[in-house]
Amino acid sequence: MKYVFGPVSSKRLGQSLGVDLLPPKSCTWNCIYCQLGRTKQFVTERSEFFPKEDILKEIVEAIASNPSIDWVTFVGSGETTLYQGIGWIIHELKQRTEIPVAVITNGSLLHLPEVRAELLEADAVLPSLNAGSEELYNRIDRPAAGFGFRQHIDGLRQFREEYSGKLWVEVMLIAGLNDTEAALEDLVSVLADIRPDTVHLVVPNRPAPESIVAMPEEEGVARAVFVLSRAAPVVHPVKGSMNLKGAADLLEAVTAIAVRHPVQERELEGALLECFPEEPGAVRQAMESMLASGRFDKVKQGTELYWVFKSA
Ligand code: SF4
Repeated sequence: MKYVFGPVSSKRLGQSLGVDLLPPKSCTWNCIYCQLGRTKQFVTERSEFFPKEDILKEIVEAIASNPSIDWVTFVGSGETTLYQGIGWIIHELKQRTEIPVAVITNGSLLHLPEVRAELLEADAVLPSLNAGSEELYNRIDRPAAGFGFRQHIDGLRQFREEYSGKLWVEVMLIAGLNDTEAALEDLVSVLADIRPDTVHLVVPNRPAPESIVAMPEEEGVARAVFVLSRAAPVVHPVKGSMNLKGAADLLEAVTAIAVRHPVQERELEGALLECFPEEPGAVRQAMESMLASGRFDKVKQGTELYWVFKSA
């Protein structure tokens, strides 16, 4: 499968089938925590990067062959709404399946009416909001020229007015940057204006391109939950895990995930144990043979080991 990966299991979206609409890495931002690495060249123009009919066909086939999928989630190699035609795909999916559709986005294009219109049929939209001030927005998200803080906030606010689905704003909490009292106060006043259904706190638990990025202490997380709850219920922390049961080819399934984000070794081991219950030898063997493929580098982040896809 070229556009579809997973399903990956997550607390928010259960068994979530990932759909990647973009060539790597295509983004309007260059976030300091981005698990895809630095943005070498910004992409700011929307385009139908791949034929939408081909993408739809793959999703429909994946749904048909996997009855356990809870959500179809647009997420992947950059900013999803850069794909012109995402609205068409969502609409076509709605004619074919009852499975809800989620869109993970940085929200940077929501100031455009055509982008907002394309997302109206999604069941949940999860835009990023990491800062409540221009200074911090520029430091964390490092947007392309022309993608200012005000425009970002206005886009989110306008979208909320037009969209009746679930708006789950995602905040990446970074130690010493946006987990301080002052930063959180700025953030909560912006959030109160946007009126999301929930705020999802996430933490940088995968390797980041900039060494300044660090996990918040428990105290910072508690402070964020406490302050941001004034604007909306806070869901925290959101941690995903992998489901490899039913994968026809384990190496390809793990590669498809690692291309999009580093894979925590512990999580991979857990997913493989579910494939080979009571066969720890088979798990070890599967991991060794995957590593022998030469597709992955092992990287340490904090106390965790990650498998990072080696780009060509
Ligand atoms: S918006 Fe997402 S894909 Fe783009 S740089 Fe930030 S984290 Fe990476």
